[in-house]
Amino acid sequence: MGTATADERAKRQAIIDHCRRMNASGLNQGTSGNISIRHGDAMLISPTSRPYDGLEPDDIVRVSLADGSHRGRWPPSSEWRFHRDILAARDDVQAVVHAHPTYCTALAIHSRPIPAVHYMIAVFGGSDIRVAPYATYGSQALSDHAVRALEGRKACLLAHHGMIAVGGSIAEAYWLAEELETLARQYHGALALGDPPVLSDEQIGEVIDKIAGYGLTGERE
Ligand SMILES: [Zn+2]
Repeated sequence: MGTATADERAKRQAIIDHCRRMNASGLNQGTSGNISIRHGDAMLISPTSRPYDGLEPDDIVRVSLADGSHRGRWPPSSEWRFHRDILAARDDVQAVVHAHPTYCTALAIHSRPIPAVHYMIAVFGGSDIRVAPYATYGSQALSDHAVRALEGRKACLLAHHGMIAVGGSIAEAYWLAEELETLARQYHGALALGDPPVLSDEQIGEVIDKIAGYGLTGERE
């Protein structure tokens, strides 16, 4: 990594910091989660099966968005395909966070999309969170399903697997990953009391307009 620019080094460190944060917060367990950040015509992504605690910037893998070839000490995360395909398909996305948080995964096991049970769903771009159909982890089929489930959205669930959140920065993608698990927990709790009522598309549209005027993280309420 001797030739890496300061910008690339900062991104490598940001991936490590957010991987550790993801485990400390309980959003993820072990090394099942992974994080990528766009870097020019490539992406930087966490390596496969390496404990986050000992990760160093040189352990982060660089993968070409064009052909998927990688450069680094280790192979990239086994989920590199959907990270690459999402970054290739979405100009608005700079970072991708994938994990298996408990409540998101519980809903995903039932292939249950999240409806507009809370106005905060609007931060993901619409009035629902879709579920990508099941396919084997690491497969092209899973990647194709994920890209489709994310259309017009900043997050989706993956059936029998977990979730993906994307953002215009790593800070946004990570924040959305945490917000999604909160929303999943709230929906799970609401389901326990019966069939929850949902907000209308018009009500969600008003929140989306309001968010557009305020910017995203930090200024919500
Ligand atoms: Zn996974």
